[in-house]
Amino acid sequence: MTLEKVTDRTYGSVNAAGGNSGIAVLDDQVVVIDSQFLNQAKELRREIEKVTEKKIRFLLLTHSHSDHVFGNEVFQDYEIVGHRSLKARMQELLSTTWTKESLEKQIAELKGTDPERASRFEGVHITLPTHVFDEDFRIVEDDMEVVMRHVGGHTGDSSTVYFPKEQVMFAGDLIFCQTFPYGGDPTADPDRWLQALGDIMEMPVRAIVPGHGPICDKREVQTYIDFIEDVKDRMVGMIREGKSQQEITKDEGYPMLYSKSADQRRQSTLAQWYKVWNQKLTKNK
Ligand SMILES: [Zn+2]
Repeated sequence: MTLEKVTDRTYGSVNAAGGNSGIAVLDDQVVVIDSQFLNQAKELRREIEKVTEKKIRFLLLTHSHSDHVFGNEVFQDYEIVGHRSLKARMQELLSTTWTKESLEKQIAELKGTDPERASRFEGVHITLPTHVFDEDFRIVEDDMEVVMRHVGGHTGDSSTVYFPKEQVMFAGDLIFCQTFPYGGDPTADPDRWLQALGDIMEMPVRAIVPGHGPICDKREVQTYIDFIEDVKDRMVGMIREGKSQQEITKDEGYPMLYSKSADQRRQSTLAQWYKVWNQKLTKNK
């Protein structure tokens, strides 16, 4: 893992194994965005020390998926910040799919098929945010400001982290740069996703650190907006025509957006977006 310089004060850790992370070096402190999996978080902390001597003060969490929060314990000496619903979701998962027994079972199953993936869950002590917010959370220094804003979209608890002075946006999993996104979370909402991406287009942003994939810019955001709108047009059209769920979610006419096949991520995304739009249309009848 390396920290790639985005601007003078911001860096992105862009790696293939899990979600991306980033840091911003303020005047008196370092802000970390997302902790990835545990082993990567340990590496990230070592990398931060190579880049700056300033002290870490905050870990900001863009959303509750394991590949963004399982390294939290490495930063447990600091304030860990997430949206109120992010903490609630993590608490809920801690009593369902993230119990010790459940994680051990997943590790045992993965060891045979995907040992690298299994190692990501080993020895994890899931660590909750120490501070929650409702609409936004700001860190203000003389010269620098950090604006973390709850936006939803990829998950109900998704937030973006923006550094106005540097014009850098940490978009979390609103953007999987140059790959197909994961929109299959049961709390994913493609309309809120569009709104959040539209807001980014309106802001002065010259670089975007996505939740997955390489550092990008607004062109990728526009690609994502076009994609979601195209899927929406086609899907809502078919819902209105009264086609069946099966016909609509298995339809092959949606734009591929970097994907070559109807893989699982694509399928679960289409299924969730169908659920959302179908519900909205039925409600409005
Ligand atoms: Zn995610």
